[in-house]
Amino acid sequence: MIASTATLARHGQAHGYAVAAINILDDLSLRAVVAAATELSSPVIVQVSVKTVRAIGVDLMTATFRAAADRAPVPVALHLDHCPDRQVIADCVRAGWSSVLFDASDRDLDQAEAETAEVVALAHAAGVDVESEIENIIGVEDGVGSDVSVHSYSTRTLADVAERTGVDLLAPQLGTAHGSYTRAPVLLPDRVRELAKLTGLPVVLHGGTGLTGDDFRTFIDAGVSKINISTGLKLAYMRAARDHLNRAEATGTWNPPSMFADIARAVQDEVAAHLEMFGSVGQAAAAAQR
Ligand SMILES: [Zn+2]
Repeated sequence: MIASTATLARHGQAHGYAVAAINILDDLSLRAVVAAATELSSPVIVQVSVKTVRAIGVDLMTATFRAAADRAPVPVALHLDHCPDRQVIADCVRAGWSSVLFDASDRDLDQAEAETAEVVALAHAAGVDVESEIENIIGVEDGVGSDVSVHSYSTRTLADVAERTGVDLLAPQLGTAHGSYTRAPVLLPDRVRELAKLTGLPVVLHGGTGLTGDDFRTFIDAGVSKINISTGLKLAYMRAARDHLNRAEATGTWNPPSMFADIARAVQDEVAAHLEMFGSVGQAAAAAQR
């Protein structure tokens, strides 16, 4: 069934787990994410980057998601990841997506707040939740973002902006970075605790690929209830494709559906491992009722 992102994250917040938000790339990975959640009776959030939604198109993406999620026995939300582009936001809101991340981290504070308030008004009028990012999370993801910290604020400022704009989820800088880590990150779970206390809103962890199970647990205990996984899924997808193609070359057997099956299996296993780490296994029925 199709679910609200904020509702799922709030259920995780109230019950000590985080909902995995998985960046999908196509219908193959989308169906593998839903299959993993179904197998483990877990809620899940399907996330799409602006680059992917531009490549597939909002209409096809929306229709494909609905076909895959509507009759799934677990709650599944559709979320637009890091989007600084107001037109793409408007298109996804109009298409009835569960939520959007308005990424205003490239704007100065006043501009970020003003535009975030406009996005919230537009989205809430259509029943769409808004994740807010005004500090930039380090690293470039599908062409969005920066490798240096451009905007960072106190948790008090973040809480005040969240309160004035009426956003539903917060994506603050937590010491993590997009992509693969070249050195161990300095994690900031105390910021989660401060924001959770100041706002009561679900806090989102970006840059999750490469963190350990203990790191995730520390963040979840501090109050994180949505965790984004993108790079890990891309690696699983591409390595499965590479291994299949190497075998095809060696054996002279060229069978695309069999490659798709290998990729789907690898993606499903990768997602399942995260659902287990995030503690959302078995929470589907309870999460769906709220
Ligand atoms: Zn991110």
